[in-house]
Amino acid sequence: MGAVYLIDHPLVQHKLTLMRQKDTSTNNFRRLANEISTLMTYEVLRDTPTQEITVQTPLETTTGTVIDGKKLVFVSILRAGTGVLDGMLTVVPGARIGHIGLYRDPKTLVAVEYYFKMPAELHEREVVVVDPMLATGNSAVAAVERLKEFAPRSIKFVCLLTCPQGIAALHGAHPDVPIYTAAIDRELDEEGYILPGLGDAGDRIFGTK
Ligand code: URA
Repeated sequence: MGAVYLIDHPLVQHKLTLMRQKDTSTNNFRRLANEISTLMTYEVLRDTPTQEITVQTPLETTTGTVIDGKKLVFVSILRAGTGVLDGMLTVVPGARIGHIGLYRDPKTLVAVEYYFKMPAELHEREVVVVDPMLATGNSAVAAVERLKEFAPRSIKFVCLLTCPQGIAALHGAHPDVPIYTAAIDRELDEEGYILPGLGDAGDRIFGTK
């Protein structure tokens, strides 16, 4: 089985709990989604490649470590991925961005692709796929499958919430893709929602319900 990183830092858990509350306003939900994904990026990029550069301090010359943001691609699964993407860009503003448009067929819950746009030379880049909810795993599996056609250097998957079925689906198809999440909830309901969950992440981020 693939790796699952549960980010249980108290700040992350605090913000997730506020996001779960049904009375949290759209405004606050969106702000919390930004903040939690900014915090999670710290763990997601813990092993990201770095390079040493020479820096001139006001006192002398020394060496420092930097990451090459341009080698990183954050791939947002539309539309809810945008709510996670914004927070990640706060700390890695130089990252390149890709979008995959997938919708869940409401009857079959199967992912159907309607949009795909990536930066050039994906084979030279580290890819981080973002979607707040890893539920049935159908979108995640389809997104990773598509991205693998371009053979990027690595692929990670970041969500705020998942459940055992979502992890089993993604790792059943792509055990090489590590999953970073703030919580692993109990189960899926018959409509593919995570329980206890936080409801429809897209609707709550964009205020469409
Ligand atoms: N997508 C959501 O937005 N919420 C869920 O609980 C599952 C999938």
